[in-house]
Amino acid sequence: MSSEEILKEVAAEASTCAKCDLSKSRTKAVPGEGNPHAKIMFIGEGPGFHEDKQGRPFVGPAGQFLEELLASINLKRADVFITNVVKCRPPGNRDPLPAEINACNDYLERQIAAINPLVIVTLGRHSMAKFFGSEKISAIHGRARQVDGRMCFAMYHPAAGLHQQSLKDTIRADFKKIPTVVAEAERLAAEGKLKAQPPGPKEDPPEQLALF
Ligand code: URA
Ligand code: SF4
Repeated sequence: MSSEEILKEVAAEASTCAKCDLSKSRTKAVPGEGNPHAKIMFIGEGPGFHEDKQGRPFVGPAGQFLEELLASINLKRADVFITNVVKCRPPGNRDPLPAEINACNDYLERQIAAINPLVIVTLGRHSMAKFFGSEKISAIHGRARQVDGRMCFAMYHPAAGLHQQSLKDTIRADFKKIPTVVAEAERLAAEGKLKAQPPGPKEDPPEQLALF
């Protein structure tokens, strides 16, 4: 199956999915959208009020900020792929529960495998935890690390910057590093030092933070 077909299949399954209780309160599932061959994939937390109504990721205030950030590095939404760790809205925008993230993980894994991005940007703690383990976001935001043959880059969630100017500045500064991370990932891939691995049990120790 092509990347497009796999992404369509995931979206169709998520739209009727009942693997966790978020299915009971959602309006629409929000599978994610963007370029099926994107170099950069953004992974947020979960749909909010507007996303739940429209079935599209990051279309509310946090999404507006994300679009501004993308524009600051000359990218549009359609250049990248945008999704979340859970595809259905947690009621009242509460944090997704570990069981919900687990139930939804297969969709995310299939999306990552289909798109095969060079760089994954995690937006917020819940997405960060999948790739960076128990690290603190205050310690690793704006830094990249190789995970499973991809470059992963941790950022604060754009929503966190909406009401706090200092965080907004930090998010803008971190975002501006993304082109360098992509260039570094391309260089490593060209040298055969960055090879995406299929998901599964890991035998190697965690890789070190790259120097950014
Ligand atoms: N916040 C998220 O984490 N994801 C969205 O899609 C919207 C807001
Ligand atoms: Fe299914 Fe994920 Fe929605 Fe839960 S959040 S119902 S696992 S699509």
